Amino acid sequence: MMTNRPRGTNDILPGDVEKWQFIEKTAREVCRRFNTAEVRTPVFEHTELFARGVGETTDIVEKEMYTFQDRGERSLTLRPEGTASAVRAFVESKLYAQPQQPTKLFYIGPMFRYERPQSGRYRQFHQFGVEVLGASDPSVDAEVIALAMTFFTELGLNDITLEINSVGSPESRTNYRDVLRSHLHPVKEELCADCQSRYDRNPMRILDCKVDKCKTLTQGAPEMLDHLTDTDREHFQAVCSYLESFGINYTVNPRMVRGLDYYTQTAFEFIENGSTLSGGGRYNGLVEQLGGPEMPGIGFAVGIERALIALQNQQVELPIAKGIDVFFVALGEAAQQHSVKLLHEMRVAGIVADKDYLGKSMKAQMKAADRLSARQVVILGDDELAQGVANVKDMETGEQITVPLAELIEKVQSNM
Ligand code: AMP
Repeated sequence: MMTNRPRGTNDILPGDVEKWQFIEKTAREVCRRFNTAEVRTPVFEHTELFARGVGETTDIVEKEMYTFQDRGERSLTLRPEGTASAVRAFVESKLYAQPQQPTKLFYIGPMFRYERPQSGRYRQFHQFGVEVLGASDPSVDAEVIALAMTFFTELGLNDITLEINSVGSPESRTNYRDVLRSHLHPVKEELCADCQSRYDRNPMRILDCKVDKCKTLTQGAPEMLDHLTDTDREHFQAVCSYLESFGINYTVNPRMVRGLDYYTQTAFEFIENGSTLSGGGRYNGLVEQLGGPEMPGIGFAVGIERALIALQNQQVELPIAKGIDVFFVALGEAAQQHSVKLLHEMRVAGIVADKDYLGKSMKAQMKAADRLSARQVVILGDDELAQGVANVKDMETGEQITVPLAELIEKVQSNM
């Protein structure tokens, strides 16, 4: 069918959308507590932003971007992630010049990557992300990690593993890259094709290659953590001890590199049932790289689809309001017509109300009230209408009373 949705995209239908709304609401509430404000940036940006911001050697930029020419022959790209856009907005609107720093931002929205779709991996997916710009103190790293953890806890998720590492500053890395290349040189030709090209451009990525052969060949490779500068090591230790003081458990994973080029020092991932729910880290050179002043930054992004899968895995019952306050059962032409007005008045008064629109029988209308989990049913026939009354049935107790139409709203509300 011509009108199917594109591969790797999803419709979020009623019944599911309430879960999304709950996740988004939780994200907003947690961000508020951490005094983190929302930013909304365009869904597409100049391609160059991601080439420069995310990094030319990343999988995302090399092979996953939705890039197109617009009618003015500009190269534009549907955003594959949120950090580059948030930092671009921070620089472009000179948020860095505001007196209160750091600038704490969050975003929620769709991202686009041309990947092979599978469970938990889509071409349009959604992220909730946080970026804190303008502070390099390790307590900020710990706070950002704690924000993510608080979000997961508030959703009702348990059994989430936090893995952290330090990928070092550029100073630490220059030396370490040479050490790593020398170590891997004898086995270079045996690595997978991707890793062979990573060898020259970004050898650290070889360490988190998922190909079994590469995993075996890199066993015993020197680790970044053993080659950090004193400053980087102290920073990492401070982040760890803040996390301990928060009671947040973590595992150090010296092989975690993350797939984006901009990370420096702290890198972290939240993992549930073998799948990465969220990834993030510090990116101290990025603001400058995107034309801003020299200002540090740190952030993370949670995949909302992955959070939903985790909620399902852990059988979390979400606090989603179900049902409606009132269903109108109207019988007879005059009553039908009058119920249209009464229904509107109820809604204006703040009552969640609905009715039958298809001229169904009394029995079918009562069934509809049940299906919609109506807490009260207002029954109005032509006779009642002539007497200026309606019957109100409490669906929980089964009790039914006759109420003057003039007092209907008040009565219904007093029983809500
Ligand atoms: P990244 O921006 O690659 O660090 O990804 C951050 C998080 O976004 C991941 O941990 C996933 O939860 C989610 N994510 C990334 N790519 C996809 C995708 N193609 N489909 C669904 N979720 C994704």
